[in-house]
Amino acid sequence: MSALENMQAVLADANWLKQEVGHHMFHPMADPKDTVANPPPIIARGDGAYVTDLDGRRMLDCQGGLWCVNAGYGRDEIVDAITAQLKELPYYNLFPGAANAPAIRLAAKLCELTEHEDMARVLFSSGGSDATETAFKMARQYWKLVGEPERVKFISLRGGYHGLHFGGMSACGGDAWRRSYEPLVPGFFNVESPNLYRPPFEGVDPETLADMCAHLLEREIQFQVPDTVAAVIAEPIQGAGGVNVPPANYWPKLREICDRYGVLLIADEVITGLGRSGELFGVRNWGVKPDIMCMAKGITSGYIPLGATLLNERVASAWEAEGPRSVVMHGYTYSGHPVGCAAGLAAIDLVIQENLTANAADVGAHLLAGLRSLMDRHEAIGDVRGKGLMIAVELVKDRATKEPFTPLDSYPGKVSDACLANGVMLRTIVNKFIISPPLILTKEQADTIVAVLDHALASTPR
Ligand code: PMP
Repeated sequence: MSALENMQAVLADANWLKQEVGHHMFHPMADPKDTVANPPPIIARGDGAYVTDLDGRRMLDCQGGLWCVNAGYGRDEIVDAITAQLKELPYYNLFPGAANAPAIRLAAKLCELTEHEDMARVLFSSGGSDATETAFKMARQYWKLVGEPERVKFISLRGGYHGLHFGGMSACGGDAWRRSYEPLVPGFFNVESPNLYRPPFEGVDPETLADMCAHLLEREIQFQVPDTVAAVIAEPIQGAGGVNVPPANYWPKLREICDRYGVLLIADEVITGLGRSGELFGVRNWGVKPDIMCMAKGITSGYIPLGATLLNERVASAWEAEGPRSVVMHGYTYSGHPVGCAAGLAAIDLVIQENLTANAADVGAHLLAGLRSLMDRHEAIGDVRGKGLMIAVELVKDRATKEPFTPLDSYPGKVSDACLANGVMLRTIVNKFIISPPLILTKEQADTIVAVLDHALASTPR
């Protein structure tokens, strides 16, 4: 094929892809009609904190893939680890009768990194929804093993997101994620959380709000009858619910209440795990040790699917006690996939060696301050919040009443399109821009995000 013919073939393929997008594939969380009417950019390549689409537009990736490409794109260390593992052994299971080296190594590594939290055992899976599902099942089995089989219920928070398998979805604290697929799994209950921008109780300071919400959780445990409650699950910082950073006294209260009633505390670290919040694990922002930690996303920097559920000494020891056999009757074909685990080892090494956690804290604070400064100039910004490199900019129709834009309003989409046209790719969730770039982001790149959003807001008519 000549160079010209080659170019023509590439162009023909690109045109076909653009025609085809949305026609044979359902996109998660999208109305298929919207995908056809307004096709998304087709991302073709990545380098550093940037992605490039099929038309050659290079954009700062403020989505970080989907809160996950922590070490950035084009990291040979991860690619090489994956390639070497594929050549050596592309797959082997962990079911009875076999093991593989990368899984053994990564489990040991994760327990070493979470020594402070007393994590002792890891159960691998393929992603975040698997990791939370595994947490629920392990929690229930734990209680059966320690002789309290009636402890089967879970309590979660409004605004929380825990994946979309049936258990995780039932723990999600937003109707949008649940209503099309109801009925939910029995035994899941949901209480108010200390959302500072849209608080369930008006006119109280953050600390009091956290106390009040913690009190509601306690009352729910009492109402359910404590010895029927298996665990409380929460994100150290709510992500998909709009990046809601709880007041500093909230998580310690959660721990206190769980301890008072013997209830397990599950930290869903699928977004916050491995550096994003400016601490290696989100719970460290609050000085709290959970009983179970769920991880995915950043664990491989998103290069390949992997989920992990970590159990602390207290929980894990139930399987080690003398007595009747206690089989972990849970796990997947891809639990401990050697390629995923090899990628995990390499990605975690990068986060640690390059101190990307500290960079997330430092550049995140700089970006947050820059975005907050835009509030002086743009009435449409109701709130800017976040921690580390997980930030939300919330748009409102009226700052005084906080009336949000709805899915029927085109303004937020137009603003994010204007950002895209200037090389900044945000994620828009109805009226919120989510900014969760790779943790390698520089302050200069952060300033670009602020300048581009500033311009987009100034040039987009309401
Ligand atoms: N938990 C949290 C906190 C998440 O943010 C997500 C994904 N955004 C999940 C669980 C589910 O992960 P996955 O999409 O990999 O199944």
